[in-house]
Amino acid sequence: MNITYTPDSVSFTCANCGKELHLRKRSPETEISGTFCPQCDEHYYTRWDGILHRGKIVSEQDLIEQLADKEHARWAKWMLYLFSKCDVYDDGDGYEQYVIPRELVTRWKRQVETPYADLSEQEKQSDRDEVVHILPIIQAYRQEG
Ligand SMILES: [Zn+2]
Repeated sequence: MNITYTPDSVSFTCANCGKELHLRKRSPETEISGTFCPQCDEHYYTRWDGILHRGKIVSEQDLIEQLADKEHARWAKWMLYLFSKCDVYDDGDGYEQYVIPRELVTRWKRQVETPYADLSEQEKQSDRDEVVHILPIIQAYRQEG
């Protein structure tokens, strides 16, 4: 298995079938980056130190990191949506105030106080649509566990 490290990527040949593969290293913040050989399905990953490992990403810490990444993306998407629904007032000093319209406050307060099981089918569906983003991560983890 030939491995060539560059500052932000790793080039190597699949230990199983010899196919040339390429893996982009992640920043220390995201810690881990993985890929697999499309020819034989052998998995590879690098951690924060950039050293290439063979096998799937398995540790609980890795799982938490991947899920936290999705959670952040979900939260950021929600905040953008919330801001887009607010009435914006220019304070004249370079700052703005965002005010949530009363209808939305009423609706969201009701949703906050409603258990999932009692939501409307449409409301449940929007929660299911979010979970779809994290399901592949959990499935990959369970296959290893
Ligand atoms: Zn291969």
